[in-house]
Amino acid sequence: MMIAAASSTLLQHVSSVSVANIVRPGFRSLSAASARNLSTAAAAAAASSSPRSLSAAQSDTRVLLGLSEPELQQLAVDLGQEGYRGKQLHHLIYKRKVKEVDDFSQLPKAFRNVLQEAGWKVGRSPIFRTVTAADGTIKLLIKLEDNRLIETVGIPVNDDKGLTRLTACVSSQVGCPLRCSFCATGKGGFSRNLQAHEIVEQVLAIEEIFKHRVTNVVFMGMGEPMLNLKAVLGAHRCLNKDVEIGQRMITISTVGVPNTIKKLASHKLQSTLAFRYTNCHSLHASNQKLRETIVPSAKSYPLDAIMQDCKDYFLQTSRRVSFEYALLAGVNDKTEHAVELAELLQNWGRNYHVNLIPFNPIEGSDYQRPTKKGVLNFASTLEARKVTVSIRQPRGMDASAACGQLRNQFQKSPLLTDSEISPPPETELAVAC
Ligand code: SAH
Repeated sequence: MMIAAASSTLLQHVSSVSVANIVRPGFRSLSAASARNLSTAAAAAAASSSPRSLSAAQSDTRVLLGLSEPELQQLAVDLGQEGYRGKQLHHLIYKRKVKEVDDFSQLPKAFRNVLQEAGWKVGRSPIFRTVTAADGTIKLLIKLEDNRLIETVGIPVNDDKGLTRLTACVSSQVGCPLRCSFCATGKGGFSRNLQAHEIVEQVLAIEEIFKHRVTNVVFMGMGEPMLNLKAVLGAHRCLNKDVEIGQRMITISTVGVPNTIKKLASHKLQSTLAFRYTNCHSLHASNQKLRETIVPSAKSYPLDAIMQDCKDYFLQTSRRVSFEYALLAGVNDKTEHAVELAELLQNWGRNYHVNLIPFNPIEGSDYQRPTKKGVLNFASTLEARKVTVSIRQPRGMDASAACGQLRNQFQKSPLLTDSEISPPPETELAVAC
């Protein structure tokens, strides 16, 4: 439904208004109805998508990244060129990954000038900092046009044939309004939603650093993707169709925002443009009362409603739902919690997978990391009750802990100050996503 609405609006633009004047999809505000369904925090996130909250410089910017091949062809025609120039643009942006219009050397200088004079740019931001862990995980800080920093992580998997899988863990917002009690991103506050191209460029930046194709994308970086649905759907389309990452290789992780899963599931049914992704819910608790103490936003979306929506999602899409469960020592990691979690899942069907994430200690939090024995005990209690479970291998622990931590280290205020703009010398850091 959502993608159908977004893409049909875009098509209308293509036919009735020249693409040269397109307002970027990520800039449109949410409908009044969907805004009503969101909490105050969510409404703040929705407001940050609206054109008014962006600086004049940003809203005037015309960004090529994120446009589809037909849109680029239309743009070329609107700018007085042959349509095939749009195909070339597509190739330069997504295959050759050229970052500046000036460097489009395959295109005539005159066309490059026209593009620049009309205010078009590629939309790639500089990499502000990279931190590499001993296991090869690289965490990047990307500096956005408005001097805000976002984190993105490249997680390689190597075997004897070399690099076989490269996962990009991408951010969907600058900061996060939901403030889950154990998450560093929430502690750093919320600035704004990312635009679709600012999500796509994270994947391209990882490809650039690793000199390798990204095979998998997980929306598990900074922010809550379901509070920035339009941009996330726009990025999903572009990553799938333009960057050519399989839909099934894209996972969207959410802590739960009322009505969003439902909308996405119904979208798949009503649209010919199938929107398939792995639905991953961050549960972190086996009952509603406990969940409310860990996840403040849980009050507006009770556990039973989440389970109902996940069950419906599975019935409609046949896509198995994963549940993430951050294990916090002494809080939600006891045997009785595992037993209760197994019962909860069995009450709602059996097509679930649980991904256990041992808590990654963050600054300013009293939570403790569980022991290895405690984690294994939790996993085997679930397995004994026929729940499929995996334990997330900590990656990049020596390159800078959980989501949001690296950003918090380099950016203390919402905007970079002058002293923060010059990167400090290389330090040994720790990441995990
Ligand atoms: N807002 C989304 C995606 C961002 S976080 C969500 O909540 O799903 C991605 C995953 O990392 C979530 O499951 C989150 O709970 C987990 N996470 C964040 N900080 C963590 C920490 N310090 N230790 C362990 N897991 C953490």
